[in-house]
Amino acid sequence: THFGEQTVALEDKQGLVNAVFHGVADRYDLMNDLMSGGIHRVWKDAMIADLAPPKGGSRPYRVLDMAGGTGDIAERIINASVGYAEVVVSDINSDMLRVGAERAKSWRYPAQASFVEANAEELPFADNSFDAYTIAFGIRNVPRIQKALNEAHRVLKRGGRIMVLEFSQVDVPGLDSFYRVFSDRVIPPMGGLVTGDSQPYQYLVESIRKFPTPAAFSAMLSEAGFKRVKHTPYSGNIAAQFSAWKL
Ligand code: SAM
Repeated sequence: THFGEQTVALEDKQGLVNAVFHGVADRYDLMNDLMSGGIHRVWKDAMIADLAPPKGGSRPYRVLDMAGGTGDIAERIINASVGYAEVVVSDINSDMLRVGAERAKSWRYPAQASFVEANAEELPFADNSFDAYTIAFGIRNVPRIQKALNEAHRVLKRGGRIMVLEFSQVDVPGLDSFYRVFSDRVIPPMGGLVTGDSQPYQYLVESIRKFPTPAAFSAMLSEAGFKRVKHTPYSGNIAAQFSAWKL
């Protein structure tokens, strides 16, 4: 495999992504904390605070956490709703889901989550069946992003909300050059140290650089049919949050 190559066919891209997360599943949470200095927790908390899942009501509140991996987002949503939200954690990678399902046993409200293996590009869920769709640090890995956004729109109920959290391009002078050096000189070797293979991390760094700009990604959300598209930069746009509605 050539993770570092610039031109990877779409079909091959999913295979590379799967290999990355297959290899790292058991140490994924540790790597997240190491590589982001724990800041990913702050961004995730901010996204869930913005989503503000209801703590009760007359109808269930159903969330699809796509590319949900080890369940970080799902656990936060369920806790924020004090055990009211029902979250389907879905991911293309069975290893990530296995680690997540194991972790979920020690959550405060383990019964509120279920785990379903699926590809974001072709969801095995009915039209208009979720109140919210979340995807954190996942959409960048999906080969056909527009297809995934169209699917998100399809499965959301009218009045439903999509929230996307993703690495973005730093737009603060000074921080951008630091971030570039950090990405090239720190992330791949650190990945190599913890998992024994640095190449997948070189691929991850490149996938961040290739991700659409906030304006281009917002246009893709509109193209999928979403309204009231909003971009919120975090930490000098190291991460970007997008919120939009199916109206
Ligand atoms: N959401 C979790 C978090 O924030 O910690 C996990 C994010 S992890 C960086 C990216 C996840 O995207 C991986 O678990 C990977 O298996 C998943 N993924 C990649 N391609 C996918 C696809 N086409 N459909 C669904 N999930 C996918």
